[in-house]
Amino acid sequence: MQIKKSLKTLHPYKPTNKRPNIKLDANESNNFLFNNTLTLKGIPLNLYPDSQSSSLKQRLSLLHGVDEESIMVGSGSSELIELVIKTYLNPGDTLLSIDPTFAMYEIYTTIHSGNYVKVPVDESYAIDMEQLTREAKHLNPSIIILCSPNNPTGERISKDAITTLLKSSESLVLVDEAYMDFTGEAHSMKHAVNTYSNLIVTRTFSKAYGLAGARLGYLFTSKNIIDDLSRVKTPYSVNALTQALGLEALKDSSKIFTHCKGVKIRREALKESLRDLGLVVLDSEANFLYVISNDARLKDKLLNYDIAIRAFEDTVPATYRISVGSEEENNALLTALKEVSL
Ligand SMILES: *Cc1c(COP(=O)(O)O)cnc(C)c1O
Repeated sequence: MQIKKSLKTLHPYKPTNKRPNIKLDANESNNFLFNNTLTLKGIPLNLYPDSQSSSLKQRLSLLHGVDEESIMVGSGSSELIELVIKTYLNPGDTLLSIDPTFAMYEIYTTIHSGNYVKVPVDESYAIDMEQLTREAKHLNPSIIILCSPNNPTGERISKDAITTLLKSSESLVLVDEAYMDFTGEAHSMKHAVNTYSNLIVTRTFSKAYGLAGARLGYLFTSKNIIDDLSRVKTPYSVNALTQALGLEALKDSSKIFTHCKGVKIRREALKESLRDLGLVVLDSEANFLYVISNDARLKDKLLNYDIAIRAFEDTVPATYRISVGSEEENNALLTALKEVSL
């Protein structure tokens, strides 16, 4: 028995099983939506769930002003991103993205035997959309994935730049808007799916909604793409409990708005405090900050204080992604950073 050729260079995905007290490494939120309100009553666990997630699509359609037929719900947006790659990437085809960005794009491309090409950010860590648009013309990739706001740098890509790309390229363009709730719906590309038949926009309940454990995401796209994806998607991938949770979560969107407003206020305060400590911190439109430091061991040092952050390279300068926590968590982080030598 031999593992598939495309998988030989892959390593298992190993999230640490230790959960530090202060978790600022995965951009989760606290569970502010459900305290004691949740009950299993009325959820028919003996039956297969609604494979279309129809009730959820109805609510999402109302919330976003996008036709139900242009929405697909998945078990986390990760399932949907891989579904797009499974459906449209032939072995050897090119998938174009940026660097650094969400690691799963490259992993899924590798699993499905594609050729992953990345356009690096410039010296100031800004996304170079002009270069990406040129590369797209030159390489004619099957798929282009843009993460906006980008994980981990926090930069939002302008709608104008994405529209220019859509107009000049025949590639399928997937815009991953996992953090758009923090930025504001006015910046979302969701309404452009009616205009551009090669556009997909993905969203998730894992970040702003604080439901990473429920595994729930969705996408907006043209009806033709929904038809294609429906041929490949595993039936019933979104379980009945998760669908019920999603419906409950959508009952009062003012809670999400209030939560995101608080995150943004704490993000700006944390950014200033980190800069006061001498760290280079990029502006961010998401619920995390990208930090550049001359200390390649910052992550390990903070673990001694029971604080987890995400590290990207063990080179100098080293780069880190820190989720915006509660006020207490952010203060604990700042106190610890003052103690470790920066
Ligand atoms: C967290 C994250 C996701 C994954 O979301 P799930 O819906 O939990 O699968 C997708 N894209 C980006 C950029 C993320 O940071």
